[in-house]
Amino acid sequence: MEAVTVIGAGLAGCEAVLQLARRGVAVELWEMRPARRSPAHRTDEPCELVCSNSLRSDSPENAVGLLKEELRRLGSPVLAAADAARVPAGDALAVDRSRFSAEIRAAIERQPGLRLVCREAEMLPEAGALTLVATGPLTTDELAGSIAAAAGRGSLHFYDAIAPVVTAESVDMSAVFRQSRWSKGDGADYLNLPLDRERYLAFVHALRAAERAPLHAFEEPRWFEGCLPIEVMADRGDDVLAFGPLKPVGLIDPRTGRRPYAVVQLRREDRAGTAYNLVGFQTRLTWPEQRRIFRTLPGLAGAEFLRLGQVHRNTFLDAPRLLAPDLSLRRLPWLFFGGQITGVEGYVESCACGLLAALAVEARARGRAFRPPPETTALGALLRHVTGEAHPEDYPYQPSNVTFGLFPPLPGRVPKGARRAALVARARADFAAWQQGRLARGVSAAGPGSVGEAGSIPSPLSMPP
Ligand SMILES: Cc1cc2nc3c(=O)[nH]c(=O)nc-3n(C[C@H](O)[C@H](O)[C@H](O)COP(=O)(O)OP(=O)(O)OC[C@H]3O[C@@H](n4cnc5c(N)ncnc54)[C@H](O)[C@@H]3O)c2cc1C
Repeated sequence: MEAVTVIGAGLAGCEAVLQLARRGVAVELWEMRPARRSPAHRTDEPCELVCSNSLRSDSPENAVGLLKEELRRLGSPVLAAADAARVPAGDALAVDRSRFSAEIRAAIERQPGLRLVCREAEMLPEAGALTLVATGPLTTDELAGSIAAAAGRGSLHFYDAIAPVVTAESVDMSAVFRQSRWSKGDGADYLNLPLDRERYLAFVHALRAAERAPLHAFEEPRWFEGCLPIEVMADRGDDVLAFGPLKPVGLIDPRTGRRPYAVVQLRREDRAGTAYNLVGFQTRLTWPEQRRIFRTLPGLAGAEFLRLGQVHRNTFLDAPRLLAPDLSLRRLPWLFFGGQITGVEGYVESCACGLLAALAVEARARGRAFRPPPETTALGALLRHVTGEAHPEDYPYQPSNVTFGLFPPLPGRVPKGARRAALVARARADFAAWQQGRLARGVSAAGPGSVGEAGSIPSPLSMPP
């Protein structure tokens, strides 16, 4: 079997190489540090956590907690390192970051069939050999250029401009009207929050006065004019938003028969209509300020936010249009992508996407079909986000954390209070059935140092070489 090259020793790359090597696939891991560092990395260690030391909630009642549970069930070496480096932080999995990286380095160094080399990929390697690109949100400009050339124009984005997302059931539907601009398409796709002039100006003034998240040193405020944060638009003049994302043209409130002064539009986020995003509301306001100010909008007093707005530097692919369901590039099928560069967001999600990519690469290397976890599981829901199955066709792809909003809705009517537990129960049952299927097909034959897949949660870091 041919050796695989993985580029980038971050959360995704380290998860992928250890999973591959433990499954008997020879791997070479290229990492440019210490020869070159990204503007955010401060050390030369693998799996550096560039900011917070928290891998977020460990409770399976949260989507990210459920994702961790599934990762542990697949013997994730990154999760095992995090568990070994855990520091007390309530229900969150927070780690001592130096110990975390040290655990990963030790696991890499004692893993047969795995070689870590200091090497920068200045361009994509020659066609042929299976390669997994996991170079993260701060992929070097040279490699990004090579990826963009291979994948096609408009294939790569360099900034996240994330608008907040709210659950449909938390919107007060009596305060909004359903309509598409100029009544085009399916009117059910948009909810409109009408504002009179007084309420609009109060909103603009609140945006101007609100606290903003600090910029990282390497994130110069060079905004794309087509994608300005709403508070920057508010700063530019009272009516800039009313001529921008809050423009009311083509919208008539059926209750008054008139065009409102301004309109906040919510666009359907998923095919099932369980979540809506606030159109054009990319923002750098702090998260508490976003919750406070957006809840003053009509219909949003009780809004439950699945995601809050952000704008930050982030290299990511237009994955739903470019990647096949096994995370390989449709145009160059020997080339796979994993981690944040696919449009997942966060440490745990990047690690999870590294694991999914490893399973896909292993399947390809062995000439088998890739059978991912069902979309009702946290891993499957994340893959569904990346491949675009979760979104309407014309959806402008944006990175996402794992949330229950990415899961397919439950069949039938389930009372609101029971929904989360039902999603978790369904995910657990479907994950167990999928894992049993793998065992039955002999997919997870365990070699030395391999990961346990039978539902027990071993510590791969302590396994003998
Ligand atoms: C400033 C900043 C703050 C963040 N804060 C948080 C946070 O608090 N919580 C959170 O959950 N997520 C945070 N993230 C997101 C976080 O980066 C990702 O969640 C996660 O680290 C991505 O994992 P990854 O493996 O895809 O990429 P990374 O962890 O970034 O790993 C990519 C690796 O590839 C290497 N590399 C890059 N280009 C090349 C090349 N051409 N050749 C060889 N090697 C290369 C890099 O040196 C790096 O080691 C933050 C991101 C940034 C940029």
